[in-house]
Amino acid sequence: MKTRLRGGRVVLEDRVVDGDIIIEGEKILAINPAQAIACDNELDVTGHTVFPGFIDPHTHMSLQQSEQFRAADDFYSGTVAAALGGTTTIIDHIAFSPQGSPLMRSIENYHALAKDAVIDYGFHGVVQHVDDAIIDELKYIVKNRGVSSFKAYSTYGFPSGDCELLKLLSALNEVGGILTVHCENDGITKYYNEMFRKSGQLTMRNYPKSRPNLAEAETVGRLIGWAEHLGDVAVYVVHTSARESLQRVAQARARGQKNIYVETCTQYLLLDESLYAGDATRACQYIMAPPLRSKADCEALWQALLDGSIQTVGTDHCPFMNAEKQLGKDDYSKAPGGVAGVQERPILMYEEAVVQRGMSLLDFAKVMSTNAAKIFNCYPQKGVIKEGADADLVVLNPNVGTQFNSQMLASNCDYSPYLGFSSSASIEKVFSRGRQIVNGTEFLGAAGAGKFMRR
Ligand SMILES: [Zn+2]
Repeated sequence: MKTRLRGGRVVLEDRVVDGDIIIEGEKILAINPAQAIACDNELDVTGHTVFPGFIDPHTHMSLQQSEQFRAADDFYSGTVAAALGGTTTIIDHIAFSPQGSPLMRSIENYHALAKDAVIDYGFHGVVQHVDDAIIDELKYIVKNRGVSSFKAYSTYGFPSGDCELLKLLSALNEVGGILTVHCENDGITKYYNEMFRKSGQLTMRNYPKSRPNLAEAETVGRLIGWAEHLGDVAVYVVHTSARESLQRVAQARARGQKNIYVETCTQYLLLDESLYAGDATRACQYIMAPPLRSKADCEALWQALLDGSIQTVGTDHCPFMNAEKQLGKDDYSKAPGGVAGVQERPILMYEEAVVQRGMSLLDFAKVMSTNAAKIFNCYPQKGVIKEGADADLVVLNPNVGTQFNSQMLASNCDYSPYLGFSSSASIEKVFSRGRQIVNGTEFLGAAGAGKFMRR
């Protein structure tokens, strides 16, 4: 069965062409073929832009954050939301398991959780403690189980220290994997949280002060220092928010260090810390770590995104219900951390990056799709419009706008930080491995149609 998308503006990896894409089964058969190819179906997409399906490299579906709190979206609702927004692949971060668990336990657990996903997915493994058995298992998983990235945390319940980070960077390098790190200095955040607790000031106004820029930047600097020390091994910094972190990365790159990859998220580009200063019932809806930053930080992130210093934009999609967030309005430590964004990211980023700031279509495809596919080892199956690649395609209408309201958001969460945000463009059709799964605001896909992507 062959389908022709006729007459679109097609964003290839190195150029933008006007013309036809021929899909055969799950794959892209041809782009502007020299010879006529008879097709069973034809869709006219003249006047539309066709991108490779967007990849969200940072989500938390079905996340059990603590005994008390579970994220609002499971792999079904979360991936329906993703699909409606034009995301055809997620790479989900696996949650912590009980202390002392082998790495495979949580991966097996996630295979079961993800069985209803409607788009393709991969997993980032998670490291809690490090010993010889874990290092051996980690290498085995990268080689045999299709999970080639792992995340370590420098804070929270299982902080990895310098020795652990060195062991992980080195082991993953040996087998061609990559370490992703949540960078916040545990000591700095502890210091402020203890101080605010003692003085009874765990207020939303103090929330950003409890996790200052320096907490992130210090750990980013230390981490990339270890990566350089080991011979420029690959390292990926998740949800970068502080301008000082970007400075440390820029300094390392200026010295010649390679293989540093930087992710930021929609919220750090589009929202800022002034939201914490207002009404506490609204402010607590933005509890996340790292917190929203100043406008100067947002601007620095934009500069870095536009000049290529930032490789990827994810969402850290991890929403909790408003009632759960409200537990934090007078004491931020009582609320779960995280916000939605998996559906909103592509069209809001298109508006802000391409329409408002002049980012090229080629660069937009890179930061929203191609770079993640390359860094996380699923290119050219994913992340590019090319003969032989998976037919994951997004048809964007640059002339019909979007305004987010609660009816159109598929997340189970009852609020979004982006309600009322608008874009001059809209996502019109989405294809996942050749099947059309979105038409306008209608979801056409099916539970369980998404496949685990071995990377
Ligand atoms: Zn996260």
